[in-house]
Amino acid sequence: MWSNVLYIDLDTGEHTIRDRADLFDKYLGGTGVATQLLLEECPVGVDPLSPQAPIIISIGPLTALLPCASKAVSMFKSPLTNELGESHVGGRLAMAMRFAGYDSIVIKGRSDKPSYLSIHDEEVKVKDAASIWDVSSIEVTGQILRNVEPGKGRRSIMRIGEGGVNQVRYANVNVDTYRHFGRLGLGAVFGSKNLKAMVISGTEEIEIPDMSAFKKMYNKLYNSVVDTDVMDKYHDLGTAANINVLNQLKGLPTKNLKQSHFENAESLSGEYFADNLLFRKIACSNCPIGCIHIATLKTQFHKGHEFEFRHISYDYELIYALGTNLGITLAEDVLRLIDRCERYSLDVLSVGGVLAWATEAYERDLINPSDTLGIALRWGDTDKYLKALDQIVKMPNKFYQALAKGTAVAAAEYGGEDYAINLAGVEIAGYHTGPASIIGQIVGVRHSHLDNGGYSIDQKASSQQLTEEKMVDKIIYEDYWRMVNNSLVCCLFARGVYSEQIMIDSLASVGIIKTRDELEALGKEIFLAKYQFKKQEGFDLSRIKVPSRFYETVSQLGKVTPETIDNMLTLYREKTGV
Ligand code: SF4
Repeated sequence: MWSNVLYIDLDTGEHTIRDRADLFDKYLGGTGVATQLLLEECPVGVDPLSPQAPIIISIGPLTALLPCASKAVSMFKSPLTNELGESHVGGRLAMAMRFAGYDSIVIKGRSDKPSYLSIHDEEVKVKDAASIWDVSSIEVTGQILRNVEPGKGRRSIMRIGEGGVNQVRYANVNVDTYRHFGRLGLGAVFGSKNLKAMVISGTEEIEIPDMSAFKKMYNKLYNSVVDTDVMDKYHDLGTAANINVLNQLKGLPTKNLKQSHFENAESLSGEYFADNLLFRKIACSNCPIGCIHIATLKTQFHKGHEFEFRHISYDYELIYALGTNLGITLAEDVLRLIDRCERYSLDVLSVGGVLAWATEAYERDLINPSDTLGIALRWGDTDKYLKALDQIVKMPNKFYQALAKGTAVAAAEYGGEDYAINLAGVEIAGYHTGPASIIGQIVGVRHSHLDNGGYSIDQKASSQQLTEEKMVDKIIYEDYWRMVNNSLVCCLFARGVYSEQIMIDSLASVGIIKTRDELEALGKEIFLAKYQFKKQEGFDLSRIKVPSRFYETVSQLGKVTPETIDNMLTLYREKTGV
């Protein structure tokens, strides 16, 4: 039904459009189709920053149709981990791709000069980006593109800042100002291709096979989002509500996971942000939830000069990474750090992990002022962290070059691997809830807490006495079913709405008939295809080392032991075959 793939070659500036019904009929869209395209297009063992490495972006069969089916999936080879890279984004991108008539976009090659992609319906152009290549701020780049590109109100604008241009391995891609392809370094891949930005819009109409069945489904979903309390948390305080909750449960990573609670958590809580800094809430296109919380930060241009008001999005993960994990005590300081990461287009979770490791390494004299270029890193010292961030992006010496490659690489070069808080090479999300969270991030295809929600399985285990095997079974169930969800592509925040039956009914409402067994088998097949890619790029679950800090700091479920992790990993490998 919807199966157009736009192939763009940056070497030549040429493009082709191919109908890939063979992929979309079988894998639905989103992550299912993108995985197959990655396997087709990415040469085994390729350097992720070479012209041959592809960027793939896909949407799903419900995109721009049903509520919360608002996301697009990108797949690439990650320059941070050298294996599977996958990241999801909201904003307007998915909707713009649907109306432009492209269900997937494959970008290969390297432009011989700074460029950006301009895609408006069937008009696809590689344009000169010389004037914006050195613009360090994603905000200003966005303003310039808004002035020169058509599609106002319908377009989506993706762009990178200086972090992406300089190929920091965890640079992200900013999408429509407040959303990101956040994790695993897609921004560096953009930079390696001399690709500064992509603007896309479209005016196509969408044909629905049975409008009355579709409207019924739409209303049912809309009402379940708006008229029940199932999504209230996301709209009200947003995910920032988790700060106080996880702090009380001793699950909130603090000061490089030396602690799992923070004495100053209240001043960084969702309640504090809402009462003192919240400016407005906004939503991705076609989503009635509106979970994106925007704060206002008043800053001074320079001593003695006027003030400006900056609008900065915040959520739980960002407050953990640049707040509790760095010992920051003022919410305004967390916003200053988020704002600097935004300007450079850097993944906040990785930045927080890297700076936390560097602070502890400095504290232990593993690194010294000659490494940091005189910046005395100290818990809670925002000004020092801002200066260090500037150096990470500019990479003036060996130390900052190592930091720009992530915590695992920096610790391999300088030591301190026991407290280099990463799992499988990826800086962790803000949960130290127990063994399921640790295992979930190790085995997850993109090493994200959202691959299988291990943290939430820990929380269930605290009240239901789950055995290690039961926890592993739940992780596997989520690993498979979230592949289905991510092929549709629905926002994972709305997974309480998109139950198995609702996914089946939603597909039927747009003319795609699938049974529960077929979807479950498809989820497993997509999961295994991703592991095929991971293994061919060298990922090996049997070689994963967990830094000892994970075992030393008490979690929500008490101290986790290496024996528990070994046992659960063995069970997981036996049951999935990976
Ligand atoms: S719940 Fe939030 S992140 Fe998800 S689609 Fe809606 S606004 Fe976007």
